[in-house]
Amino acid sequence: MTELATYIHQFAHLRRANARQGHYCGTTQKKAPHKPILLLAVLDLVARGVITSSFIEVTGDLIELNDLFNLYWRRVMPLGQTSSIAFPFPRLNSEPFWELVPQPGCTITPALIGNTTSVSFLRKYALGARMDEDLFRIMQIPEGREALRETLLQSCFSEDACVQLRDQSVINREAFDYSRLLEEKSHLPLVKEILEADNYRPAARDQGFRKIVVNTYDHRCAMCGIRIVTPDGYTAVDAAHIIPWRESMNDDIRNGMALCKLCHWGFDWGMLGVSDSYTVITSSSISMVPNFAGPLQTLSGRGILPPQDEAIWPAREYLAEHRKRWRL
Ligand SMILES: [Zn+2]
Repeated sequence: MTELATYIHQFAHLRRANARQGHYCGTTQKKAPHKPILLLAVLDLVARGVITSSFIEVTGDLIELNDLFNLYWRRVMPLGQTSSIAFPFPRLNSEPFWELVPQPGCTITPALIGNTTSVSFLRKYALGARMDEDLFRIMQIPEGREALRETLLQSCFSEDACVQLRDQSVINREAFDYSRLLEEKSHLPLVKEILEADNYRPAARDQGFRKIVVNTYDHRCAMCGIRIVTPDGYTAVDAAHIIPWRESMNDDIRNGMALCKLCHWGFDWGMLGVSDSYTVITSSSISMVPNFAGPLQTLSGRGILPPQDEAIWPAREYLAEHRKRWRL
């Protein structure tokens, strides 16, 4: 058997938990979808050049892996049923191509793996996982990834689900290309809109803009400074547009800021703005209403937390347009 055929066989025969009382539906062939969905996300990250060796660390940054896992998950799983990479990552150890690497002095047991429901628990005993070198080599070739992806889809999902997951895989690729385009544009003179945006679907644009803004601000809210990333890789910030996309069609990073949910809401409704000298302005209506969120008021006059590179700070002309709109 050739190497590719070996891994196709192994991917087609993943050991997956059976349905417990209708827990998994026909969409996933009545078996747990976690392992194939994680492997789809791994394939994307190899394509993006984020996973650069056969060793995947759990001590490092897993945000992008978890993001992609969730994007696939949401396409095929019922609303309200959630998961994270913490489930399949250790359980793939039962497959011949994936081996957990223990923390120094730790012994990995089936009981430890079986009890793992969070990445923070996983990190206590594992440094990461090592895939077969031959498998990683195949994953680095586009045709190899395609063959492995199709194997996962066709052996683990219904036909309808395959269509959804294939579509998501294309969106993920487009989103990555789009984020690279935005990165290139971010050092050119300001333009009103990113014209090539027409070539990308909304889901790819959203993901691409979010990725570049959230990473540039290192997951920190530009206004209140809060930075929370859960051990499973969920972040508290959104990628906010200064002038909304539906009006500006402008995904320039200088038309964006990473904002936490409250500051995002406050900014979008004109409770908060940013001055020409990059300090926070609060609306007078905050102080007029006694039960308005106190934390917003305390931001008044504080400097925002822009990216390190001054060339990609929020553009003053967009901030001015936002202030004018809300009479700030
Ligand atoms: Zn905030």
